Amino acid sequence: MQFDSALLPSKRHPVFSSGVRLKTPLIRIQNLVYDYPGFRALNGINLTIEPGTVTALVGPNGAGKTTLLRCIAALDSPLSGTVHVQGLDVHASPREAHRIMGFLSDNFGLYGGLTVAQGLEYAARSQGLPASQVPAAVQATARQLNLIEKLPQAAATLSRGQRQRLAIGQAIIHSPQVLLLDEPASGLDPEARSSLAQVFLALQARGMSLLVSSHILAELDEYSTHMLALHEGRVLEHRALRSSKALDAPGAMPRERYLHLEFVSPVEALLPWLASQPGVSVQHAQGQAVDITFIGTSGDQASLVAACVAAGHPLMVLAPVNENLQQSYLKSLQAGRLAGQRGEQSRTIP
Ligand code: ATP
Repeated sequence: MQFDSALLPSKRHPVFSSGVRLKTPLIRIQNLVYDYPGFRALNGINLTIEPGTVTALVGPNGAGKTTLLRCIAALDSPLSGTVHVQGLDVHASPREAHRIMGFLSDNFGLYGGLTVAQGLEYAARSQGLPASQVPAAVQATARQLNLIEKLPQAAATLSRGQRQRLAIGQAIIHSPQVLLLDEPASGLDPEARSSLAQVFLALQARGMSLLVSSHILAELDEYSTHMLALHEGRVLEHRALRSSKALDAPGAMPRERYLHLEFVSPVEALLPWLASQPGVSVQHAQGQAVDITFIGTSGDQASLVAACVAAGHPLMVLAPVNENLQQSYLKSLQAGRLAGQRGEQSRTIP
């Protein structure tokens, strides 16, 4: 799947037009409780999601991921609690909410008799795009998901991966500010998965927030900024993931980075000097290697390298250390299960 960033949703979309990030949370969920007959699937969810984030929604089978996504998308109504997206109560105003959200269900359906072009047009029109904008939106979305050649082909004749791409295209054709994806990469080949990750990153760069559920954590690792772990209908953990990947945009604020440094000689003697450098906090040292947290911009990081060399401590390696989502998730899950053994409530509704 090719990825063409020039064809992403227009920057004139309201979420981008101010050029500044919104200060209030994009999604605010308060005391959300959802019951299936005789079974509590969501048990008091509270969380906020900031604009421009990509949240990996993880949890074991049955944790409540799909139910949470459907409640946010205003497709299921909770027993109690609220979901606000951009200040809009999604259950009070579901139609308006759908205009600012895109949703890809885990078992999505397509109209097999419609061509790809017709399916995208149908999605665009049902999301209220003005008729004059629909052809361009169809072309742009098809190009973005590498479906241009398939535009005249009936959805029923597409492969599993192509159907998945069409469904994703239908979910993003109206440039939603929030994109909810339930297992979006299932059925895609490795190349298509990687391209999809690039699409998600580019959507995020434009200010869109994504909430993506998947059991393939290595894939989520590539583009997630946050982890939201659910366990038995509750939030187990919700936090930013450690990432030192991205280069800062011009004017960016200092942020915490996790760095692995290797020097030419053993680090023991230089640790006091290193620890005294601005923004540096030594985490672990062994032999010639040291792991640090560093608060600064990417420019500050370059200055640290120069300072090491100028002080007579030539560096062989400086590499970002990124958090492994799988390890973090498994740790979180283990902690949650231990807490559960200490006597959490039953999910069966009396
Ligand atoms: P998976 O990873 O397997 O997709 P999930 O985290 O998405 O799981 P949900 O589909 O949200 O989990 O289901 C949460 C719980 O609610 C599960 O225990 C499930 O059995 C239960 N559940 C889901 N749908 C219904 C239903 N229609 N009636 C009764 N219980 C249901």
